[in-house]
Amino acid sequence: MPKQNQKDLNAFNKAALDYHKAEPKGKIEVVPSKPHSSQRDLSLAYSPGVAVPCMEIYNNPQTVYDYTAKGNLVAVISNGTAVLGLGDIGAEASKPVMEGKGLLFKIFADINVFDIEIDEKDPDKFIEIVKGIAPTFGGINLEDIKAPEAFYIEQRLKEELNIPLMHDDQHGTAIISAAALINALEIADKKIDEVKVVVNGAGAAAIACTKLYIALGLSKENVLMCDSKGVINHKRTNLTPEKIDFIAETDIETLEDALKGADVFVGLSKGNVMSPEMLLSMADNPIVFALANPDPEIDYNLAVETRKDVILATGRSDFPNQVNNVLGFPYIFRGALDVQATGINEAMKLAAVRALAALAKEQVPEVVKLAYNIKQLHFGRDYFIPKPFDSRLLTRVSMAVAKAAMESGIAKSPITDFEEYENNLLD
Ligand code: NAP
Ligand code: MG
Repeated sequence: MPKQNQKDLNAFNKAALDYHKAEPKGKIEVVPSKPHSSQRDLSLAYSPGVAVPCMEIYNNPQTVYDYTAKGNLVAVISNGTAVLGLGDIGAEASKPVMEGKGLLFKIFADINVFDIEIDEKDPDKFIEIVKGIAPTFGGINLEDIKAPEAFYIEQRLKEELNIPLMHDDQHGTAIISAAALINALEIADKKIDEVKVVVNGAGAAAIACTKLYIALGLSKENVLMCDSKGVINHKRTNLTPEKIDFIAETDIETLEDALKGADVFVGLSKGNVMSPEMLLSMADNPIVFALANPDPEIDYNLAVETRKDVILATGRSDFPNQVNNVLGFPYIFRGALDVQATGINEAMKLAAVRALAALAKEQVPEVVKLAYNIKQLHFGRDYFIPKPFDSRLLTRVSMAVAKAAMESGIAKSPITDFEEYENNLLD
């Protein structure tokens, strides 16, 4: 690394530590939301007054949403087994990430978060712990849990709990990248049911993304999935159930061969595994989502220098078209909480996808351009995913998700007046 870069990196690392260490330490805190300055206030807030709502809830459990903070409280829960790109660093070391997620939930969707780091790797024991604390929360965001355990944990908790619950590393990524895919296909003038797709990676994110693209019309026969050992084909042995589901009837074994003539590359694997030659071998107007963080499967500048017709997205904020989960989870939970959905189902995910895709095609307000110091932002190769600081995300995505929950019959508290709801969101 050149000296200057190393110096910048050291300065940035120190800034990150200082940011977290500044008083009050960490990134979130608990703030009382009711008057508490007189003896009477305290007798209402705590004993004896508090016994009254307790008994109301005991007699009618649904009123917990009326008398407590449950309905706007999400647990961000991890066991620290797959933290960012850092791997299994344990529950306690994952806490800055979970607090950070709490900060994002709050600033983008005014949702309160308790971050919960659980020192338990056994999936069944982890599930029991989450079930045990679930009554506290209106929703649960599972985070940074290693695959394949994450698939089993999420599946069972979805079945056994009746609040909105989502493993964001799977479905958040799937929703944002699916919105990007719909728009990228439009730019390339290609149809989702015709394109050939290579998915590099077969972990939490890649599996969920591929399933959602299939729900949107991608043909499973047109997918080649690769893991660290190459293409998942009929010659492979010792595969997990999730990988078995994507076995391709082909003799192709390498990413290099898989990419020849492919329309779409979705990378959810490791940095710098795609060479310029591989990119050159793809079809016209190749769609490349190089989403590995922090280093994409192919460097942004290298990709655009290699092919002028590439339609490119990465996970990075310093280049156009960032696939970033923050475009989704705050608003998906906002909409789900506001109708007291009993889960987050496929209809709600697809509604979020379509709302995100549609928003990128609308005219961009000046404030958004100012926030990014960009003069022009029009739907096209350099802009096909909304920007995180686009305040329209709150109403568009939350409302779409809430409506989908209602229409699919899982909203316990349907919204009757969406105009009023929209105004409340904007307040
Ligand atoms: P994961 O569950 O650990 O999965 C990683 C997958 O990548 C595994 O299937 C692994 O193969 C595969 N892999 C590793 N090296 C490979 C290589 N050289 N060629 C092909 N496949 C390879 O992790 P994850 O949560 O899905 O995340 C994967 C990557 O996507 C990370 O870089 C993460 O930062 C990124 N990501 C980005 C976003 C975003 O929004 N931009 C969101 C989520 C994830 P094996 O199964 O053989 O081990
Ligand atoms: Mg994560």
